[in-house]
Parts: sequence; C-alpha cells; structure tokens
Amino acid sequence: MAKRDYYEILGVEKGAGADEIKKAYRKIAIKFHPDKNPDDPTAEDKFKEAAEAYEVLSDQDKRARYDRFGHQGVNGGGFGGGGMNMEDIFSQFGDIFGGGQGSPFGDFFGGGRSGGRRVRKGSNLRIKLKLNLEEVANGVEKKIKVKRYVACNICGGNGSKNGASLQTCNTCQGSGQVRKVVNTMLGQMVSTNTCPTCDGEGQKVTQKCDACHGEGRELKEEVISINVPAGVADGMQLSMSGKGNVPERGGVAGDLLIQIEEEPHLFLKRDGNNVVFDQYISFVDAALGANIEVPTIEGKVKIKIDPGTQGGKILRLRGKGIKDINGYGKGDQLIHINVWTPKNVSNEERAMLEKLRSSDNFTPHPGKHEKGFFEKMKEYFA
Ligand SMILES: [Zn+2]
Ligand SMILES: [Zn+2]
Repeated sequence: MAKRDYYEILGVEKGAGADEIKKAYRKIAIKFHPDKNPDDPTAEDKFKEAAEAYEVLSDQDKRARYDRFGHQGVNGGGFGGGGMNMEDIFSQFGDIFGGGQGSPFGDFFGGGRSGGRRVRKGSNLRIKLKLNLEEVANGVEKKIKVKRYVACNICGGNGSKNGASLQTCNTCQGSGQVRKVVNTMLGQMVSTNTCPTCDGEGQKVTQKCDACHGEGRELKEEVISINVPAGVADGMQLSMSGKGNVPERGGVAGDLLIQIEEEPHLFLKRDGNNVVFDQYISFVDAALGANIEVPTIEGKVKIKIDPGTQGGKILRLRGKGIKDINGYGKGDQLIHINVWTPKNVSNEERAMLEKLRSSDNFTPHPGKHEKGFFEKMKEYFA
C-alpha cells in the first residue's frame, strides 16, 4: 500500500514549525481516536496514520531524512515498516498531552483512556554528576556514558520474532482492560481492570524475538549530553525525560535523574551566588597599600589594597560570582581581608617593631567608635 505524504496527512505545509505539527496532530488524534469512533472502521487507520506521520515529523533527525529520501528514509527504524502499534501511539501522548492522569488528553476522554491500553513507563535512571566551581558558575555541557535499556532494534521493542507472532489478546480483545459488571444494591456498577491475561499489554508474543528473548529491549551504553544550567547547587536534581529505561515490550522511557555534586575549590568558597576568598596581607601592605592578585572563577584578577586597610574589610568584585539559576543576574566575589601577624620575628625585626610600638600611629583607632572612646578607656584602666 502506497503511503501518503506525512505533511499531507497532518494537513501542514512542508516548512511547518514543531508547534504547528504538534497542534495539527493533536487535532487529528482527538478526532479519529478509536474510542470516539466505534462505528467508523477507518478511524483507527487514520489515527494510526497520523501517529506515524507525527512520529517522524516531530523528530528532527527523522524529519530531515524524510525530507531528503521520503518514506524510504524513515522506514525500518524503531517502529519498522509496518506502521505503529497502539502502544507506541499512546506512548507518544506522554509527550503531546503531558502524560499522567491530568493530561489534557485524559480530560478530553473523561479522565482517562477508557478503552486504551495503559502507557507503561520504564524505570528512572539515577546518576551523580560531579561539577567544579567553574562549571557550576557558568553552566556546562557534560557528556557522560550511561547504561540504559533501549528498545530492541531487531523487533522494534515489541518482543516478537516477526510481526505475525504478535497476537491480539483474546481476553481483552486488545484493549488491555477488562470490564466487569457487578450488581449492587445501588444498581449495576461497571469496573475496569487491567487485563490479567496480557497484563494490560493488549497483545501476546507467541514467538519471541531472538535478540532480546521477547523482552523488547536491550541494555546499551549511550553517551548522553547533559546541559547543566549555570547556578546549580550541590544536591540539586536535574531530570531529562525519556532518557531512562524503556519498559519491557514497549512504552515510554523513564527519566534520567541527575544529582549534582559540587567539588570543593582549592581557594574559593561558595556562598549562595557569591564566591568568597580569604586574602591574607601583611600589616605592612595593610598600612602602606599594595597591588595584589587574587584568584577568581574567571582567572587571576589584580586588586588594589588601599593604604590604611583594616583586617576584616570586605572587597567586592561585582559580577565575578555565580550566575543565578533563575536568571536573576550574577553574584559577586567577596574578598575578606585578613591582616597576617608574624609569629616569629628576628632580633632586627623586633628592634624595628619596638620602635613602632611607641608611635601613636600604631595605636588602634577604630573609626566606628565615638569620639573620646579611647580617653574614657584610659580613664577606666587608670
Ligand atoms: Zn527484540
Ligand atoms: Zn488482555
């Protein structure tokens, strides 16, 4: 059977944007959903056709291949040449409609996919990601190796040896659910349960795929590129949806959860979005002033110590801190000035210092005290 053009199926122009394609697909999916059209046998075909078109056009790589080579370019991929099965289609809804019970799709059909198979989600993968302060400050793209379950590329994820060995479950007729009518005092009640025969999958594999032994997935080492935003902090968790494990025999992949670990910096300490550096200067530099260099996230920076600088003073380098994770600017680097007091002095130095001891300039006069403070103190100790 010749396939229709994917753009034509969705009713969009060739250059349509991702949002437009999503919208168009959503419309068609809702219109032709088999649950909504029990009397129209062509509805399911149209539904599947649209899902297949969307599957290709929503994926940048596949779309590019389709644009260049047509159907030839995208067949034989994950879903094989035989179109998509319902499980695959419903797994798309996780992306389109947000997934979960509260998805707009679920709402549209009255709080759930009444007759549809449940979308199974694979397990999440957890990894720890160590970052140094520079990476935290500016954000970084990290490539890491992850071992995860992906759909078996021999069977496309359904676990069957060939398409024919995939049979619709007799118990639920492929819906994945069984309805039970129970007579109660309040009248008849209908309850819907997961089909016990197929465990909600709606189909049975009679001949298992040799490659995956019917599991529909394989463990694969993948290099995943993680875009870490600037300003993350130790213990924070990032998540990449769909980069976790694919469940057995098709469904939505779980998420990749990335826990951030900050490596301590040799010189710099983090305080929120600020970076703190403890600078020791001699009391000679403190008294006479000096030009010194301090480390920052961006490298060495020259700063000036004013003559008469007191220990405890904090100098601020604006914008040399960490980018705010919510985009509210950048922190500063704070330089805490400490005056270094020599612990051992030579006889010669001692003589010089003794000379200075008697100088009035070497007597503390902290400016924050009110006038007469020292006079009063002298009186007190007299
Ligand atoms: Zn397989
Ligand atoms: Zn069943």
